[in-house]
Amino acid sequence: MKKYILPLSIFALLHFKSAGQNLSPTEQKIVQYINAQMPQSEELLKKVVNINSGTLNHEGVREVGAVFRKEFDDLGFQTEWISLPDSLNRAGHLVAERKGKSGKKLFLIGHLDTVFEKAMSFTPYTYLNDSTVTGQGVNDMKGGDVVLISALKSLKANGLLDNTSLTVYFTGDEESSGKPASVSRKDFIERAKACEIALAFETAVGMNTVATARRGASGWRLNVKGIMGHSSTIFSQQAGYGAIFEAARILNEFREKKLSGEKVPYFQSGFNYGWF
Ligand SMILES: [Zn+2]
Repeated sequence: MKKYILPLSIFALLHFKSAGQNLSPTEQKIVQYINAQMPQSEELLKKVVNINSGTLNHEGVREVGAVFRKEFDDLGFQTEWISLPDSLNRAGHLVAERKGKSGKKLFLIGHLDTVFEKAMSFTPYTYLNDSTVTGQGVNDMKGGDVVLISALKSLKANGLLDNTSLTVYFTGDEESSGKPASVSRKDFIERAKACEIALAFETAVGMNTVATARRGASGWRLNVKGIMGHSSTIFSQQAGYGAIFEAARILNEFREKKLSGEKVPYFQSGFNYGWF
């Protein structure tokens, strides 16, 4: 979601902390499997980080998509590449689905692109110290994509993917969406509507925290009408309060009734979910 370029995307390699947490035996097995697979997960991350996939580098975005697609194929998902019309100048999206009747229908969100375009100087996957790595998209959000895949691998290994209904959607143009969005997000929206719960794997609030809601973005137009006249007649019975006052009144009403004091709910997971 970041629309600015970080000088360095820092990605901390963190291991699960299960001590002191009340995890069920099954949950402990899930964590153990993920920890045991950490070297393979890091290899996967390194591989995709070292492929430049700036939003406009179609080839790179598709290549990252192909690497992840193989992971989902191996997990038994039905995978599909969603192409977009040439006029949008975007690579397309990766979708992986499995259908079942057990549990809620989940929509798991990631993205393949980064803000680092091919023309920029390339930063390969590099250790800054024994626990921190830098590289293009290590955090936002190839790290999140690998967290998602690691979690699914562990669920499969523990027999917990059976009969579940999951749609994984990795967009190829999250950092700069193809316009119009009604075209670039059409398939995404349709599939999301068929699901019940959406989980995004990009860092929102910070480490060790799961955000349960975020501010969204919307566009809208406020039309107000007033009687045209000289400013000296404002507030008179004949001219009324004017269009500007009315627009300000409505906006202030939004502020007072809806927006002020608005808080983004989140909870501390108390659980290092691998990588953020
Ligand atoms: Zn992102």
